[in-house]
Amino acid sequence: MRTVTVLQHIAIVGSGPAGLFTADALIRQRPELKIDVFERLPTPYGLARFGVAPDHQGTKAITRQFDRLFGNPNIRFLGDLAVGEMLPLAVLRDYYDAVVLAVGAHQDRRLGIPGEALPGVYGSMAFVGWYNGHPDFTGLSPLLDMPGVAIVGQGNVAVDIARVLSKTPAEMAAADLCAHAAGSIQAAAIRDIYLIGRRGPIEASFTSAELAELGKLERVRPVVNKADLPESLPETASGDLKIKERNLQLLHDYAARSDDKPIRLHFVFHSTPDAILGESRAEALQIRNAATPLPVGTVISAIGYGTAGFGDLPAPDAAGRLPNQDGQIAPGLYTAGWAKRGPSGTIPTNRSEAKSVADKLLADFADDAAPAKPGSAALDGWLNGKGLQAVDYAAWKRIEAAETAAARPGAPREKLAEWAALRKAAQE
Ligand code: NAP
Repeated sequence: MRTVTVLQHIAIVGSGPAGLFTADALIRQRPELKIDVFERLPTPYGLARFGVAPDHQGTKAITRQFDRLFGNPNIRFLGDLAVGEMLPLAVLRDYYDAVVLAVGAHQDRRLGIPGEALPGVYGSMAFVGWYNGHPDFTGLSPLLDMPGVAIVGQGNVAVDIARVLSKTPAEMAAADLCAHAAGSIQAAAIRDIYLIGRRGPIEASFTSAELAELGKLERVRPVVNKADLPESLPETASGDLKIKERNLQLLHDYAARSDDKPIRLHFVFHSTPDAILGESRAEALQIRNAATPLPVGTVISAIGYGTAGFGDLPAPDAAGRLPNQDGQIAPGLYTAGWAKRGPSGTIPTNRSEAKSVADKLLADFADDAAPAKPGSAALDGWLNGKGLQAVDYAAWKRIEAAETAAARPGAPREKLAEWAALRKAAQE
């Protein structure tokens, strides 16, 4: 006789928006499910904590919804447990009916040009992680001592970095920019920021709201060469034409400005970096076919992310996706978010996509004959046997309380940015 499994135990690896929207979509449809959410860091929320810019607190408000999710006794947080390292994926696959890898894209894509290893050159994951208090990047201490900074790439990450580097302390008053980064940015001598795109203004991937913000900053003058701009959208324009149209309007507005402000933010189009020049550190950026290199002491590449893959699963494709079919990697193994579709899209993109992965998972188990798995109890036994203790949700709340208590007036928190400090606060 065929036994039909009652799907019960699900492990989600990664507590960023993709993982937690998947948990949300699953529990809404099947409230009796038991979901364990695993996280490498002692803190939940992934890019909502470490990616979203510190001055975009409205975007971070999504974490309140995730907090409510963890209020459900059927959903557990298990932080400070690196699946694939201290906790093998095979263990999760043995103990849970289904495992969802929502592990994001962890690595900076490389420019692949000479000079990339010089001091003063950083990838955006490391640089954003540094100012956002990611414990892996707190020690980055980027060089910000020359007037020129180049940011390669014209996506929203590049725009975030330009804005964070140029806002005044008053403009950052309500942000959770880490104190170590705030001090270093305010002490910096930045006068010229170059936002470098290899294609033209129509192809730039920043969105209009983010571009508009750059025109409202107290000490920044956006500098755009009118000759770079078409009068109207060309027939060949593709993508979201409303955004492209608005971007073009904004860029024309910037091109017409002549006010004098302490920091000039140069939009540099049709420019491919060929080399980073310097003896013992970055001193200039050579753009292909340009007569003179740009004098910059800091080069930040914000050209997207990749992943080295996950354990012995098939390697990711060129776009950084774990090979999958509509979110399924193998029977009982799924993926969501950037690991599934590559590093693109905003937080709301993950909500709708997670719903479809959850729907697929539930449909796959609707008539499954596999034996039921033991779930959390077996996992807890395995962890005990190894002497491993996860940071649970209550422990995360202790970290959060310590961060809130340390906040300067007007700011939501002062993040604990070191592994040891996070673990200590979790235990206290
Ligand atoms: P992105 O939007 O894909 O932008 C990457 C940029 O890097 C593009 O300008 C791309 O140019 C350029 N690039 C790629 N390879 C390059 C190379 N080898 N040399 C020079 N330039 C290169 O990615 P992102 O900025 O990392 O953002 C990731 C996702 O997060 C996006 O979907 C973004 O919208 C989202 N995000 C949203 C917000 C927000 O909503 N406020 C904030 C941050 C991030 P080409 O177009 O020529 O490839």
